[in-house]
Amino acid sequence: MRDGPNTPPGRDQSACRCEFVSRAGPDELRSETLRDAAVRPEATVRRQVLEPPYIYRWTVLFLSIALMAAVLVQLFESDPEAAEPTHAQARPRPAAKPDPVSAKLIKRLPTNDRVVALTFDDGPHPVHTPRVLDLLAEYDAVATFCMVGSQARRHPDLVRDVVDAGMRLCNHTVRHDSRLARRPLPAIDRELVQASDDLRAAADGVPIGYFRAPGGNWSRQLERTAARHGMRPLGWTVDPRDWSRPGTAKIVAAVRRGVRPGSVILLHDGGGERDQTVAALEKLLPWLIDEGYRLDFPA
Ligand SMILES: [Zn+2]
Repeated sequence: MRDGPNTPPGRDQSACRCEFVSRAGPDELRSETLRDAAVRPEATVRRQVLEPPYIYRWTVLFLSIALMAAVLVQLFESDPEAAEPTHAQARPRPAAKPDPVSAKLIKRLPTNDRVVALTFDDGPHPVHTPRVLDLLAEYDAVATFCMVGSQARRHPDLVRDVVDAGMRLCNHTVRHDSRLARRPLPAIDRELVQASDDLRAAADGVPIGYFRAPGGNWSRQLERTAARHGMRPLGWTVDPRDWSRPGTAKIVAAVRRGVRPGSVILLHDGGGERDQTVAALEKLLPWLIDEGYRLDFPA
């Protein structure tokens, strides 16, 4: 719309050039007042709003909004504290308590399959424990080692070797006190806690899931105390009395005669000379495998 003869005389046209600019050529460029725009056809206004310089301003506005939105999203994603605290955050739940350990004495595995558990007591021993580990590795077998705390303190490297070989540990007291079941409860507590500390000092953080009473001398109080400390009382099914050194043949025969699906077999890698036990194990491992037995941990 061209300025008509109604333009007030003396009005500086350049002073109001900023409001709306028509699509006319540069020689016809002129300014219009808001009142002028109000009376223009709507299509003309829409066209002008989508052209320079307004199109630049819209672009800058949209880009600014997008940038702010992106910054806000980044803030909430990277800093959860900045977000409105949820109910769970405001009142965190206590960690779930682990299931209590059963105080029921394990005498055999709960299976009718050909699975047995080997257990070795009274170690670790610097000569016999490595030989037992070598044989287990040769037959890809696992076993549970019921270690005495005082021995673990003497041979922490052997405790680590046993754990690193994939075997499990069992607490067998600090001093192998065979009268522990008759001691007062505080003394039993101390013995169990100290023995576990001795094993964990050698193998940091290792789980100790079992406790075995020295000599198999149990009481209900001893079983319950072991469970309270997170250890399942571990007994046995087959005892070839290898600790009495009856001869390799007798150890082998006793195991072959007594083993059944689910048996827990008691042997010793410490507490004295154990060459007969190692020799018997050398015969028993291939025999068990030939008989279709698999070796597992007590459960
Ligand atoms: Zn023992």
